[in-house]
Amino acid sequence: MSVSAASASPEQLLAALIAGEYPDARGRFGPFGGRYVPETLIPALERLERGVRTHLHAAEFRAELDAQLASWAGRPTALTHAARLSARWGAEVWLKREDLAHTGAHKINNALGQALLARRLGARRIVAETGAGQHGVASAAACARLGLPCTVYMGSLDMERQAPNVGRMRLLGAEVVPVTSGDRTLRAAIDEALRDWVSDPLETYYLLGSVVGPHPYPYLVRELQAVIGREARAQILAATGRLPRALIACVGGGSNAIGAFHAFIADRAVEILGVEAGGRGPALGENAATLAFGTPGVLHGTYSLLLQDAEGQVQETHSVSAGLDYPGVGPEHALLAAAGRVQYGTSSDADALAAVRALCECEGILPAIESAHALAGAMRWAQQHPGDTILVCLSGRGDKDMPTLQRTLLAEGQP
Ligand SMILES: *Cc1c(COP(=O)(O)O)cnc(C)c1O
Repeated sequence: MSVSAASASPEQLLAALIAGEYPDARGRFGPFGGRYVPETLIPALERLERGVRTHLHAAEFRAELDAQLASWAGRPTALTHAARLSARWGAEVWLKREDLAHTGAHKINNALGQALLARRLGARRIVAETGAGQHGVASAAACARLGLPCTVYMGSLDMERQAPNVGRMRLLGAEVVPVTSGDRTLRAAIDEALRDWVSDPLETYYLLGSVVGPHPYPYLVRELQAVIGREARAQILAATGRLPRALIACVGGGSNAIGAFHAFIADRAVEILGVEAGGRGPALGENAATLAFGTPGVLHGTYSLLLQDAEGQVQETHSVSAGLDYPGVGPEHALLAAAGRVQYGTSSDADALAAVRALCECEGILPAIESAHALAGAMRWAQQHPGDTILVCLSGRGDKDMPTLQRTLLAEGQP
């Protein structure tokens, strides 16, 4: 069954979603997604799409990827019962520990997978973009492991704000190129990486960091991150004998969330929740909550929701966590919202910081501030569902956030 996207009801979208029909042949997730790029980029994207179709699910590629994930990236990651946090919040909280993956977050699943694909496609160098630096570090590490030269474009403003990650990338052998155009942050860095790719699409591979951008990236990145939910589903069944009542993840571009959600989409009894950065409040420029406050439009080659003003100018965003600070969101999330399969909410800067403290105190785990947005959402859910079980995707560790935590939690004068 194929439904016309423009006229489809939420029920029709949901049925097609559960039947696994997205993305369709044109790279669309219902009305969202697609490929809105200059003509010069089309041949490169078509080559990539053919490469993905040939290799991604082929036995030989899967075996190579699985071996690297296990021996180098630290998979499978643990599933942890948060016993003391559960006692405090009143529901059973389980954590999928992407903070234990190599380089400290889920991003390595994607970077390693795409770097292996690039090598198979005969690429001789990798370009990547980075905002907070986490995807740049994961890309640099994967490229070093596979012996591929790596160039990372990074906004000059972000380079100042995330200096330790610039050093990490350089130690891992990457060339970090400052981008001084546009907003001097992630948005300009993506534009620059695309420009580099289009100038030499045969020898260069563009390693994109989230489930955004033109087709086939949202699909490719989803497939590489879906290992999170596949593992977590089997682990929680083994540990508790049943599926959780709810599943929750934070949403920036949306890759850890899609990765966690994908294996559970057809489990209709499992409530799925996405949490965006509510920042300082609902006004434009004060948050990065695209699904909550955005409107439809095109950014970086895909049709999705984005934070823009009435004239279509993309807006600056704010979040205490640099990794959630993006004015767009993956097109599959726009579909999951439209189909009613996932409920999206927000956590404020203050709620996320309080959740960082709670996880440190109760479980001895310092989470990334991004991941703490999901934890804060889990706390609200727990208070409304006493005794029920919620699975939280803990997307990364918080060591990288120490400068922010020094200025916030630790400046409050508490221990
Ligand atoms: C980058 C990052 C995110 C946000 O990216 P998604 O694509 O939305 O997953 C979330 N958590 C951590 C730890 C990150 O590094």
